[in-house]
Amino acid sequence: MCNCKQQPELVDISNNQTDFKGRLHQLEVGNWVLLMSCPDCKQLWKVDEWDKYRTCYAVKVPSQENWEAYDSESLVKEQIIKNHGGLTSDECLSAGCNLKQVKSSAFCVNHLYIGGTRA
Ligand SMILES: [Zn+2]
Ligand SMILES: [Zn+2]
Repeated sequence: MCNCKQQPELVDISNNQTDFKGRLHQLEVGNWVLLMSCPDCKQLWKVDEWDKYRTCYAVKVPSQENWEAYDSESLVKEQIIKNHGGLTSDECLSAGCNLKQVKSSAFCVNHLYIGGTRA
């Protein structure tokens, strides 16, 4: 049986992309992203298709309709904060931004994300 249920909403598959995709069926191809489904539980996954130099995520999507537009931005931001070990009590260095810095960075998660950080 599959382990989709035990997986979080967002899964970092950078290191096991081939394995992860190998267990799923491909339904549709989008712009650097695939819609895949689990043959066991029918869970739908939106799977990044970047090259090996980027962080790849798989995210659970609720339906096939508008799957490509399904917004995983907030989940990726949560993941970034988690990967960095949380927030500091200092403010983001970006002018006018008063959100807290992500640990081991000088910026808040929004500005990291805008700058291309995905992990
Ligand atoms: Zn499954
Ligand atoms: Zn900021």
